[in-house]
Amino acid sequence: MEEENKKGHFIESIIKEDVENNKNNGQVTTRFPPEPNGYLHIGHAKSICLNFNIAKQFNGTCYLRFDDSNPAKEKQIYIDSIKESVNWLGFDFKTPFFASDYFDDLHGFAVQLIRRGKAYVCSLSPEEMREYRGTLTEKGKDSPFRDRSVEENLDLFNRMKSGEFKEGEVTLRAKIDMGSPNINLRDPIIYRVKKATHPRTGDEWCIYPMYDFTHCLSDSLEGITHSLCSLEFEDHRPLYDWVLDTLETPCHPQQIEFARMNINYTVLSKRKLQMLVDQNQVESWDDPRLPTLEGMRRRGYTPEAIRNFCNIIGVSKKDSRIDMGLLESCLRDDLNEKAPRVMGVLNPLKVTIENYPEGQTENLTAMNHPQKEEMGKRSISFSKEIYVEQDDFMEDPPRKFFRLGLGREVRLRYAYFVTCKEIIKNDAGEVIELICTYDPKTKGGNAPDGRKVKGTIHWVNADNCMDAEVRLYDRLFKDENPEQGNQDFMENLNPDSLKILTNCKLEKSLETADAETIYQFERLGYFCQDSPDTKPGKPVFNRTVTLRDAWAKMAKKQPPRKQPNPNKKNKKKG
Ligand code: ATP
Ligand code: MG
Repeated sequence: MEEENKKGHFIESIIKEDVENNKNNGQVTTRFPPEPNGYLHIGHAKSICLNFNIAKQFNGTCYLRFDDSNPAKEKQIYIDSIKESVNWLGFDFKTPFFASDYFDDLHGFAVQLIRRGKAYVCSLSPEEMREYRGTLTEKGKDSPFRDRSVEENLDLFNRMKSGEFKEGEVTLRAKIDMGSPNINLRDPIIYRVKKATHPRTGDEWCIYPMYDFTHCLSDSLEGITHSLCSLEFEDHRPLYDWVLDTLETPCHPQQIEFARMNINYTVLSKRKLQMLVDQNQVESWDDPRLPTLEGMRRRGYTPEAIRNFCNIIGVSKKDSRIDMGLLESCLRDDLNEKAPRVMGVLNPLKVTIENYPEGQTENLTAMNHPQKEEMGKRSISFSKEIYVEQDDFMEDPPRKFFRLGLGREVRLRYAYFVTCKEIIKNDAGEVIELICTYDPKTKGGNAPDGRKVKGTIHWVNADNCMDAEVRLYDRLFKDENPEQGNQDFMENLNPDSLKILTNCKLEKSLETADAETIYQFERLGYFCQDSPDTKPGKPVFNRTVTLRDAWAKMAKKQPPRKQPNPNKKNKKKG
């Protein structure tokens, strides 16, 4: 990995060579070109990081350009969200560009193509067009309208523009080669009639340029030197080059393709994400289980973690599927450094400390980060009644369980040693309260007589805490590859991807939490306040990520062992 980083990935190498050879006068200009027809996902982050970082590395510029030539699917809310997400990721694009700003130029280029005898207006219906197009194994057939004169084509194209034709009645096609083995070169449509209101140009146009025509010309108009895109555009490159070679354009950018990002246990496609939202499998586009940048931000992902992940996975020509565990570990690495520590109890069990003075409250000192003095300290209150985690108590604990059990002594984090004396149960036989004693000499967590306890558990003061709802998220899909063996990914959803806990007790200091701060709830994981659903007096927290990768442990357990060892006891961590 080190070695590869030093050398740089293959795109870096190509560009480095270009700069050394003074190609494009040694300039580097890139762009990130989303279509505003949905929200960005982490796959887009790979492209954003690549384009902006390359530009920075070679002292060049990277633009944000909206490829907005399909008004039927594009909306202003997507434009706003995409701008916000790119900024949030940490990239400064100044003023964004829009392909729709070039509609006049693009129209002019189309006229130029007609004049050069390289484009014609075709009156085949969409069905006929499909038939004439041929297949992967069969050549296409020339359209009967292919030999219209330049004058006739100019006239028809003009009438297309002025709204004389219905959608699908006529198209403007590039005249290339119906016999080409590359279907993209079989006289592709470059303009079609579309009577839709465009989010930016309104009803000014009723013909719109197609993606393949728009994209290369927008790149050229902006002076892009290296047009980086994902592998599915490889077959479109000959058309990209044909348009720019056939027309007189400002420059001819070099298209370079790289493999898309795929991550296991999720899907990275706007269309599939849209289906999940439309069929109410998730709440909305910013559902914290989704790999959308808005969802990940809401869940507590940091831009640093996402950027670091994109760096680590690198850029290549080969498709691969990346382990979700790697993304989560990038997140943990970042949060471990900067998340302030607090205490919260998710499944509370009441504890009464019988020898603690009635009515007394004291303030104890807790570190905001045990390894970082500079993050400061805070005060947490303690009194006779506290809550601990239900899981931290066992009525009949095995030997290696170092938490609470009848007669056992544990340390309450930042507070005292307590010993469990009595268990109170309800009629159903469930433990509902513990009666403990505390040792006043152990204040702060150490015994003056050097007595040791093996377990330290977290707690909150029952008289001085806040009630909260906490949402625990897990992987959205059950299988690593949600579409394995032609499975419908919708059938593969993990039914336990969301667990809502409504009776959580959190330390009071979280009352001033904001959604931008990610906390470590000691021993439990990283959490942040959910900004859309938190209402005054009704806080909601999201679990961003657990402290350890539970899925990795499970995966390791799965390979069948040669012989189970009957002497080996189940290990439980204290
Ligand atoms: P989707 O397939 O999710 O609908 P898209 O490719 O249609 O995405 P665009 O808005 O066209 O979305 O993408 C903008 C840029 O982001 C393109 O250059 C595209 O190559 C790149 N991109 C999209 N998805 C990925 C991905 N998973 N990995 C890397 N780059 C991606
Ligand atoms: Mg696309």
